[in-house]
Amino acid sequence: MSTIVVPASDLFKAGMAAAQVGVFVLHDGRCCYVNPFLETLLGYGAGELRRDADEADLLATALPVPARYELLAAEPGTESEVVLQTRNGDALPAVLLAVPARCGELAVTVVTVLDARSRNLAEQRIRELIDFDTLTGLPNRRLLKDRMQQALAAAARDEGSAVLMFVDLDHFKRVNDSLGHSVGDELLCAVAQRYQGAMRQVDTLARLGGDEFILVLPGMTAMAGLELARRLLSMAAQPVFVAGHALTVTASIGISVYPQDGSDMESLLKNADTAMYRAKELGRNAFQYYASEMNKATLERLLMESNLRRALLERQFTLHYQPLVELASGRIIGVEALIRWQHPELGIIMPDSFIPVAEDTGLINPIGDWVLCAACRQAQRWIDAGLGPLRMAVNVSPVQFRQAGFIHLVAGVLATSGLAAPWLELELTERTLMHDAEVTLGSLSALSRMGVHLSLDDFGTGYSSLAYLKRFPVDKLKIDRSFVHDLAHAADDLAIASTIVSMGSSLRLTVLAEGIETREQLALLRHMACEQGQGYYFSRPLTADKMTEMLKQQPFLTGET
Ligand code: C2E
Ligand code: MG
Ligand code: MG
Repeated sequence: MSTIVVPASDLFKAGMAAAQVGVFVLHDGRCCYVNPFLETLLGYGAGELRRDADEADLLATALPVPARYELLAAEPGTESEVVLQTRNGDALPAVLLAVPARCGELAVTVVTVLDARSRNLAEQRIRELIDFDTLTGLPNRRLLKDRMQQALAAAARDEGSAVLMFVDLDHFKRVNDSLGHSVGDELLCAVAQRYQGAMRQVDTLARLGGDEFILVLPGMTAMAGLELARRLLSMAAQPVFVAGHALTVTASIGISVYPQDGSDMESLLKNADTAMYRAKELGRNAFQYYASEMNKATLERLLMESNLRRALLERQFTLHYQPLVELASGRIIGVEALIRWQHPELGIIMPDSFIPVAEDTGLINPIGDWVLCAACRQAQRWIDAGLGPLRMAVNVSPVQFRQAGFIHLVAGVLATSGLAAPWLELELTERTLMHDAEVTLGSLSALSRMGVHLSLDDFGTGYSSLAYLKRFPVDKLKIDRSFVHDLAHAADDLAIASTIVSMGSSLRLTVLAEGIETREQLALLRHMACEQGQGYYFSRPLTADKMTEMLKQQPFLTGET
């Protein structure tokens, strides 16, 4: 067997030309050799970089000098991540391996260049495989743990709350068994996608495997969790079209709340899981809180809410009217409209027990709109019947006052009922006024310019600033009945009431005392020169018919009886 001797320089050239990695050689920090592969990688033509080997630093643009010295200083064979610059200025992430070598007498460094783009992609893919569920692309148990730890740490730091939901699809196995796993998989993806759409950016929706999903909701309160849980239930129940089948699948949800149901991930997960099983026991397509008192409260609230919706549709609301009396003359100068809910089974329900739910659910807007219409129409009817002049006072909830278009609503109602603006009085609370004072000022001014009267209800129970009182175009203060109740026996209540009366008169505001029940209270208020009053002493709130009778007997409420 004969040996063929290839000259070393030819061997080197051929080897370097065929190498499928980039190679360059540094001597004294200067680049004196670049192989064809690296030239191509950097976007140069064949031989373009090597042509002027003698004069120039071959990689003058591609690799800055400081990066080279780092390479030289590094332990031989260690990887350095650098960004090379290609001919047209693009960045090329690369990994370099530098090894010292001798070239005859010359000490050089041979550097291998690996294109890091494909490697970065591969790393990203690996990270995805580690952190994400391959079917749905949602975070998996590992990433969930990270996210949850972050959420709990933040909640602990800010003394905030967080909600954890355990969602399990109902009878999902049946889909898999009867229609096959690929249909089941598609269904899972569809549900995941819908749920993802309901998440905020800070939330995490993870899949634990099978048909189990976990939601981590940082900063969410138990009450807000309720709204979301209901949304998730209705989302799951929308049919999904898979392989020609319209599938519906319901879900059962267990909810645990940080910090009351646990302070660490394990206990919160365990408790949400327990709650989820309770939801299954209750017949599925339901959610349950781990803390049972939450269930009771939310159940009552839910019941109330759906009943309220029906009440609106079935016209179960009515208005009662209570006279507002001028204390000096005993004349009825107006009435306050007070809502009542005539429940078909429960009888009359008073506003204090349903207005808060209506406010929380936004139902107060349609309810309030109805009250405004009905009250204005009734006032105009009384005026038409010659029972005026008469002012109609209507309570406005903060939520309703802040709804977009409230001013237009008032204008519209006045126009359709035919009631002139000065006969309408809107009762607002201090809470309404102090919320975003600048916006409130704008709305109040617009109403005032229309000629509508404005009064501050339950005055003294909130915290109005006197400075604001002066700025807001309010016409009347209604002293809260808690100060009137003990007027005859509690010196401080007497002091508060008379202070409000004198303050009102110096600010040129009418003052009305609520909740007058006795002759004694009336006498004290008259003595303070309180202008108007309202209370059982004169009359309880009455139906429209009874109120009509009372108005026909005007003037009669002398209070001297
Ligand atoms: P409010 O606006 O302060 O209404 C006066 C409340 O005091 C009424 O209770 C009335 O029946 C009661 N009252 C009147 N005179 C006396 C009295 O001499 N003694 C006692 N102890 N109570 C008296 P009501 O009708 O139960 O209404 C409670 C609250 O519900 C109202 O307080 C008002 O804030 C709210 N509300 C009533 N109707 C509506 C409405 O249509 N819309 C809104 N947003 N809230 C309403
Ligand atoms: Mg009122
Ligand atoms: Mg009041």
